[in-house]
Amino acid sequence: MIILKSKEEIEKMRKAGKLVAEVLSEIARIAVPGVTTKELDSVAERLILESGGRPAFKGYQPDFIRCGHFPATLCTSLNNEVVHGVPDERALKEGDLLSVDTGVELDGYYGDAAISIIIGKGDPEAERLLEVTRGALEAAIQKCVPGNRLSDVSHAIQSFVESRGFQVVRRFVGHGIGRSMHEDPPVLNFGEPGKGPVLKPGMVIAIEPMVNAGTYEVDASPDYWPVYTRDGKLSAHFEHTVAVTEDGPDVLTAPIAITADRK
Ligand code: MG
Repeated sequence: MIILKSKEEIEKMRKAGKLVAEVLSEIARIAVPGVTTKELDSVAERLILESGGRPAFKGYQPDFIRCGHFPATLCTSLNNEVVHGVPDERALKEGDLLSVDTGVELDGYYGDAAISIIIGKGDPEAERLLEVTRGALEAAIQKCVPGNRLSDVSHAIQSFVESRGFQVVRRFVGHGIGRSMHEDPPVLNFGEPGKGPVLKPGMVIAIEPMVNAGTYEVDASPDYWPVYTRDGKLSAHFEHTVAVTEDGPDVLTAPIAITADRK
């Protein structure tokens, strides 16, 4: 069941979303060669706790699969890792493609967003993969207007990505969000347009294209975290929490600064 949110609830979600955006901006700023993903995770956790939030991923256990609790505040997925990477002692290297996903619960409401960045200077193919994934998210957000169907959002992602020579991951999808991190409806990153629920003001969804440079096939580790591309090629991930309003799409996790002094 899709739970519509009141304007007051959307404002609460914007506060959670703003904290997510601040955390991701800071992570993008400090993610330089030599820093470990575990160090990034500590910074993120501290920022969230200091702001009165709760890291929503830490301790999370999906109910659709048998696996352990997710142990960290951030998902840090490097290069051929698609999503659900666990922060560890690996130091970032020049040219690494790092996807960072985080969720926050603040005052009972959730925000969820992800970015992908290249550490230092990346190769042109990696840069293009990021550009296309971000572009697919932008195209999807533009479809979040009342009267459209949910699969118009999905189709916008798939057509944007495939027309540029990349592939969208099928196995993992976006989701409704509100007083729970994962609500109905699932938000697929592929499909024919004109299908599924009609978008209405008050619907809030986390849209999260995962885009692979090669095949869309992925495999999960035995303990479920992380997920890898089957062919070992690069993968990128961008996500925003977006409210459908009478005035059009309202991005609740904006703005995320991913430039800053990353040298
Ligand atoms: Mg999400």
